Amino acid sequence: MQEIKFMVDWKNPPKLFIPGPVHVAPEVLEQLSRYTLGHRAKEYALLHGNTVGMLKKILCTEQNVFLVTSSGSGGWEASMRSLIKDDEKILCCGCGAFSDKYASVAKACGKQVEDFRVDWGKAFTAEMIDKKLSQGDYSAVTFVHNETSTGVTNPVEEISQMLKAKYPELLIFVDCVSAMAGLPLKFDQYGWDFAFASVQKAFAIPPGLAIFAVSDRALEKAKGVSNRGYYFDLLEFAKNGEKNQTPTTPAIPQIMALNFQCQKLLAEGMENVWAKHKEMAQLVKNWAKEKFALFAEDERCASNTLTTVKNTRGIDVSAVINAVKSKHGLAFGNGYGKLKQETFRIAHMGDMTAADLKELLGYIDDEL
Ligand code: PLP
Repeated sequence: MQEIKFMVDWKNPPKLFIPGPVHVAPEVLEQLSRYTLGHRAKEYALLHGNTVGMLKKILCTEQNVFLVTSSGSGGWEASMRSLIKDDEKILCCGCGAFSDKYASVAKACGKQVEDFRVDWGKAFTAEMIDKKLSQGDYSAVTFVHNETSTGVTNPVEEISQMLKAKYPELLIFVDCVSAMAGLPLKFDQYGWDFAFASVQKAFAIPPGLAIFAVSDRALEKAKGVSNRGYYFDLLEFAKNGEKNQTPTTPAIPQIMALNFQCQKLLAEGMENVWAKHKEMAQLVKNWAKEKFALFAEDERCASNTLTTVKNTRGIDVSAVINAVKSKHGLAFGNGYGKLKQETFRIAHMGDMTAADLKELLGYIDDEL
């Protein structure tokens, strides 16, 4: 068998400050190497039920939480296939590459989409969404909690309050991939119907698992939606969830790691976890403002899980990333898509610490 020559020294791998997958702590990695369980065995049901119970606390919901063996993108597809009928119209609010992709996936699933976009770097306001919704007849609205390309967080609480008050029938779907476990998220209070994330972001677990939160009324609606497909049929997740199981064989090692991380999050307290993310973000934002500029137009909407830095000095971003990685083993991210070289991104989420970030910023300074 031909040996694969990785560029990585596995005894001393690079520490990831890219906006996902992020650095995974050794004690979390250990969870992935436990003996495996049969997914229809009692032990698995205990693991599953316990993990879902903790996630409900973390997401502040008493409704449904599903463990789904896919990356976060599965959330886009599941919400469209299971919860939207073909003759319904949905409003997709895009403020960057990932929220735009929600609309693309909806179209790929054959749904009727109205795109509503703001310039990259901006956030939506409740007023903007209200005005747009008042001009059409929509069954659902989609938006992103935290846009990972631009480093912008939408004011989800204000938007949700407006939606609940003025459009009580409208289903609310929120991409929380780079927000969940790092930013305040109160599923029931916000009146959301579908929220999803993958575990390689603020949960700081290797990729391979997604978390879906689904409202009771959304599941009720799914019963009347045809062509829900197979892999992401939310009614199948609900049926199997009653037995603390999943429809197909799940990524059990990732679920063990998730169980471990949930225990840690709850022991720390979510308010403290969110405050820790805010503190780490402030450190990076201050550095970015001093040395460059924030890409987020309004600092109040600049993300607390990652910072997208505007390359105001015209540095060769790839060269600096490569230099810091090869000299010190720390990796941060280039701009996403059309923002490559124009911006760069530093994640501050999960198990990272302020000390880790100071070290990284110091090395970037050396290269500047
Ligand atoms: N949504 C957002 C906001 C993201 O940042 C990402 C990935 O970075 C995705 C969706 C897609 O998630 P995944 O790569 O886990 O499929």
